[in-house]
Amino acid sequence: MLFFISKVYSLPVDAKDEIKLRLPIDQLVSQYCQLKRKGKSFVALCPFHNDSKPSLLVSPDKGIAYCFACQSGGDIFSFVQKIEGIDFPSALRMLAEKAGVELPKEGMRQTKPAVSKDERERFRECLDSASRFFASKLQSTPNAKDYVLKRGVTAELLEKFAIGYAPDSFSETYEHLLKAGFSRAEIVGSGLGVQKELEQERIYDRFRHRIQFPITDAQGVIIGFGGRTMGENDAKYVNSPETILYNKSAVLFGLFHARDAIRKSHRVVLVEGYFDAVASHKAGVENVVAVSGTALTEEHVKILKRYADEVVLCLDQDNAGQLAAGRAFELLSKAQLRILSVSLPAKDPDELVQRDPGLFRTIVQEQAIPYLDSVIGRLKLLPDRTEPAGKRRIAETLFPLLAMLPTSVELRAYLDKAAQEFGVVASEFAQDFRAFAHVSALPRTLEAKAALGDAPFSSAELSIGLALLYPTCRPLLRELIPLSSPHLEAVRFAASSAAPELGIIEILVPLTIDPVLRERMQVLALYCEENFPSWSDIVAQREIRKMCSAANRELVVSRQVQLIAELKEARKNGRADEEAKLLTQYQQLVKLTQMAKSS
Ligand SMILES: [Zn+2]
Repeated sequence: MLFFISKVYSLPVDAKDEIKLRLPIDQLVSQYCQLKRKGKSFVALCPFHNDSKPSLLVSPDKGIAYCFACQSGGDIFSFVQKIEGIDFPSALRMLAEKAGVELPKEGMRQTKPAVSKDERERFRECLDSASRFFASKLQSTPNAKDYVLKRGVTAELLEKFAIGYAPDSFSETYEHLLKAGFSRAEIVGSGLGVQKELEQERIYDRFRHRIQFPITDAQGVIIGFGGRTMGENDAKYVNSPETILYNKSAVLFGLFHARDAIRKSHRVVLVEGYFDAVASHKAGVENVVAVSGTALTEEHVKILKRYADEVVLCLDQDNAGQLAAGRAFELLSKAQLRILSVSLPAKDPDELVQRDPGLFRTIVQEQAIPYLDSVIGRLKLLPDRTEPAGKRRIAETLFPLLAMLPTSVELRAYLDKAAQEFGVVASEFAQDFRAFAHVSALPRTLEAKAALGDAPFSSAELSIGLALLYPTCRPLLRELIPLSSPHLEAVRFAASSAAPELGIIEILVPLTIDPVLRERMQVLALYCEENFPSWSDIVAQREIRKMCSAANRELVVSRQVQLIAELKEARKNGRADEEAKLLTQYQQLVKLTQMAKSS
């Protein structure tokens, strides 16, 4: 009997441990990153920062995945929380499901007393409910259904992508959701309803008379919608607004359905529209994602890089599509992805699949060529390519692209190739390119990283780190406005006057600073050494100066914002003395700004 009782109650003491036992860290991480074996462990390109070499260490022994470059990661729970942007309870639920561990419901309630479901969960449910509503509306609205069927979308695809229709009404969706038990705040917060003015009571449907494509995260959970017009005289796409679930620059339509195919082929096909992605599936090409209604962003590229080594650009065949391809090439080559391109004998993938799905499949799977080759091929068709004007067009189009190539080997190969294709002497062509590169292709990594917030350090910290690496530049740190953190300021001051032969440790030893900051500064020094190792002193000076003024600008702006808030407060409360004092400070700050600008 005792045995029986213990059996009934022997639910895992800690479901967390049970999940950890069943779900090895490498197995989890491999769903997001490509792992390469390294001794007993694995390495991967870190998904948490703009990684150029495999910095993420995955240790099955220790159950840990950690990147020392961006100091992110941890056990399976920390990893999944960070990569999915979810809280602990959601991570627990998700991993429990993956590991096949049933969470003890009562036990959960004991450890976590009855808290109403969090906002995110309610928004998800609201979107889910809307999705079902849209799907049923599509079935019951003949002209909407005819429209998708006419575009060749099969019943199977309708279901797979949960395609629906938002009725042609001001508030039918809203009223449906209200009846289903969602609050006004939830309907507006999840992006489905629009409240035009705060005072205005009325809520309108955001999506009206549109074909609705649920947009999901990589796990298949709906986070928003893309609504595509059925006519031509309306905005082509209306997407969900930014919500706590939906961040348009970090979402790729179709990723959930494409993930396995991308992982298998290490290749992703990039198309423009929702219908293009769906059509591609119809043709049997499943490693496809779409960036609808927005340009490709750094965030998108980071996501693609988790799964693929190669990107096939399969964009619209018009000028806009070609411009988009150029921009995509820049971002993708910076991330060191291999970029291929196809040319379709149709306006877009959707049109070609409707005509000949087999041809589409063959072109995408077998006829993709390196993107630069396709550009050269296009330029060769210019009728005036041997005239001065044509030559200039060729240089203007090609040189900026060549400047983005990550290695000099590739650059040399393409310069030779282009010279040959255009019948120009190779050495002259290369010389023209060097002249172009000299004026435009200055070292961009640092600026780009800092500007994009990809560097794990602030501009002020980077200034310090670089000055440590390039000792002759240390005095430049005097151009920084004194920093608001006293400990960091102590480091800046010490570094600005440190003798060139002193290293980071020696500079830090005499300072009384927070040990966390001390460690951070050592990591910073290592970071700069890894990332910016081979500048000439002239380039280093220029880059550090730029970094210092960026830091100064940031500091001034944040101080300004703070002062203005304090001023308002003082004025509101009639504290005239304080107001006068703050005003003086503000004027000093303005002076400082002018000094920072002129330096
Ligand atoms: Zn990292």
